[in-house]
Amino acid sequence: MKKEITIVGAGLVGSLLSIYLAKRGHKVRIYERRGDMRRAKVEAGRSINLALSDRGLLALEKIGLADEIRKIAIPMHGRFIHNLDGTTAFQPYGKEGQYINAVSRGELNKKLMDLAGEEGIEIFFHEKCLHINWKENEVGFINTKNGDTTDVKSDIIFGADGAFSAARLQYQLNHDRFDYHQFYIDCGYKELTIPAGPDGEFLLEKNALHIWPRKEYMLIALPNPDGSFTCTLFFPFSGEQSFENLTTEEKVTTFFEKTFPDIVPLIPDLNKQFFHNPVSSLVTVKCFPWIREDKFALIGDAAHAIVPFFGQGMNCGFEDCRILDELIGQHGDDWKMILQKYQTLRKPDGDAIADMAINNFTEMRDKTADPKFLLQKKIEARLHEKYPDKWIPAYSQVTFSPHIRYSEALERGQKQESIMQEVMKLVGIETKWDEEELLGSIIDKI
Ligand SMILES: Cc1cc2nc3c(=O)[nH]c(=O)nc-3n(C[C@H](O)[C@H](O)[C@H](O)COP(=O)(O)OP(=O)(O)OC[C@H]3O[C@@H](n4cnc5c(N)ncnc54)[C@H](O)[C@@H]3O)c2cc1C
Repeated sequence: MKKEITIVGAGLVGSLLSIYLAKRGHKVRIYERRGDMRRAKVEAGRSINLALSDRGLLALEKIGLADEIRKIAIPMHGRFIHNLDGTTAFQPYGKEGQYINAVSRGELNKKLMDLAGEEGIEIFFHEKCLHINWKENEVGFINTKNGDTTDVKSDIIFGADGAFSAARLQYQLNHDRFDYHQFYIDCGYKELTIPAGPDGEFLLEKNALHIWPRKEYMLIALPNPDGSFTCTLFFPFSGEQSFENLTTEEKVTTFFEKTFPDIVPLIPDLNKQFFHNPVSSLVTVKCFPWIREDKFALIGDAAHAIVPFFGQGMNCGFEDCRILDELIGQHGDDWKMILQKYQTLRKPDGDAIADMAINNFTEMRDKTADPKFLLQKKIEARLHEKYPDKWIPAYSQVTFSPHIRYSEALERGQKQESIMQEVMKLVGIETKWDEEELLGSIIDKI
């Protein structure tokens, strides 16, 4: 039966969800707090570009958008490490031919909105969700331009309004036993741009995700189609080396010259950018329940905001949409069953990727420059090459194996890690790591 569905938020996940639902024949309306990013330059919020990997692509594939997005994406085949002593190293992400994709958040969102329009979905802009009347299943919006208020009644409401979801807050305020946990890491982030060279050329290796690991903090850079790179400095809020202490142009210049010397000549207006661009915080949100009867569900960051160190927040939200759609395919009109199963399947996966994302922060900023860690990764890559079904490195499970659930990847990854911890203690591992017998004995432990 055709349902009237209201989605709060036309971000990446809300827009994709609307297309899946419309393709199933439902009448979908989206209400978005901001203006239409296709008509005027709207502050995109958060990162300018994102890493799209196989889970996200699979979800886009199902609505026929993956090829179009691949055309505007830049493949990144591995991590390009910039050490403090000026040396560099390239670490491939997976097997030959596996890569993640740098894609513009704005362009991706616009393409999703365009496709939503083609599917007959109405998007109402400048409409901010204020409250939800749970008895009537009615969402109240205020128009941020003219102050008009609208109450929208529908059969099903989806809260796709991001990490600070108003829909989720309404649920929390009006329902007993709503579990809510949010926490911030002690690092914030600031974006900086490396412009393209004089002829539009890339001033760093184009097809890589660049990392300057510095133990307590790091800088990363992702390529953009116009030849520029968007850098993100993940840095403590307070302490000796912190945003709080970089208060003058002199301090910023000295810090960058000492810590990221190869970056300084690439950003001529470093200080201007540094003092203009904001410092943003990084939150993890876990909550439960995500659904209410057959009438309401949280999806995307509204259900599970995570830190960006696995490059999975959007990918996970896109996967939510794909799984929900599969459940609609299986259970048709039984929305109670669909939402119940959606929550049962996705909540453990949201929790798992949240935990893995936190762990990956340490790996990226601290370990990518550590020779012992690099040897471990080399051994794991060889194991994967020799025994592709038995040993899949955790990163590959998350990034290149969209049919392995995040919760399964976490569990298998932990088991593999504990085996590797023992292997790395073996005397002479540096020389015998590639021996048949050793590799075989590792696999026997799985
Ligand atoms: C620095 C950084 C880097 C990241 N990099 C990656 C990456 O490489 N790969 C990856 O997969 N993920 C990445 N992420 C995560 C990714 O950005 C999010 O997971 C993704 O944007 C979630 O999409 P969403 O639609 O759920 O939420 P959002 O993108 O936040 O969209 C929510 C929408 O709801 C609207 N809204 C909010 N409140 C209201 C309201 N009250 N009423 C109406 N509308 C409202 C907002 O305006 C917005 O349009 C990164 C995040 C950060 C912070």
